[in-house]
Amino acid sequence: MSNKKFISGIEIVQAGFANGISTQLAEKQITEGPEAKLTEAEKEEIINNAAKAYGEFLTALGCDWKNDPNSSDTPKRVAKAYIHDLWKGRYEPMSRVTAFPSDGYSGIVFEGGIPITSMCSHHHGLIQGKAHIAYISSENGKVVGLSKLNRIVEHFGRRGAIQEQLTVAIHNAVDKICEGNLGVAVMIEATHACVSCRGVKHQGASMKTAKLTGSFLNEDSARAEFYQFTKGYNN
Ligand SMILES: [Zn+2]
Repeated sequence: MSNKKFISGIEIVQAGFANGISTQLAEKQITEGPEAKLTEAEKEEIINNAAKAYGEFLTALGCDWKNDPNSSDTPKRVAKAYIHDLWKGRYEPMSRVTAFPSDGYSGIVFEGGIPITSMCSHHHGLIQGKAHIAYISSENGKVVGLSKLNRIVEHFGRRGAIQEQLTVAIHNAVDKICEGNLGVAVMIEATHACVSCRGVKHQGASMKTAKLTGSFLNEDSARAEFYQFTKGYNN
């Protein structure tokens, strides 16, 4: 018997918003439930509609994209990139999770330097950096396979984001999945292309956000251990 389990309640943002699931997936969930998946044909339809609209966007910008050999397939390329990579996390549910008994382990579980690639909801500029995640399992609680933490970062990073809410979304998912945990800590350090490439155009400025709960918030030693572990990772 598989002990993989679907975890509900990890999508905490209104469906349709850039940092939530897509309207198309939300509509399917009404009839098929929270594990509903879009078919390849349904994704293809979204790509075709988005490509058509992006072509019109380029035309409005005065780009004769149809006759430019470097741009003629760009609307399709951009649409595909959004569905398959940049906003991938909006078009599929989080996969089922296997949580294992902690077998008496009640210490910190830390994974640092998880690459994070996202896109700011405000300007659609690249957000790039590292996420550091920790939780404290209880002796009778659950631990997850380590790569699940990477997958959580991908699921929520690969959509529109503001770094503050992205931190909360990742924290909430880890908290839900690591049942019986005594605390969860998430820290993100990232650079934002909307700061470096447009507007003020400042290169090298980075943003740090953190959400701590349980022992990480209430016990100085746990908090210090988490921040000690985050050292040594460079963006
Ligand atoms: Zn921005």
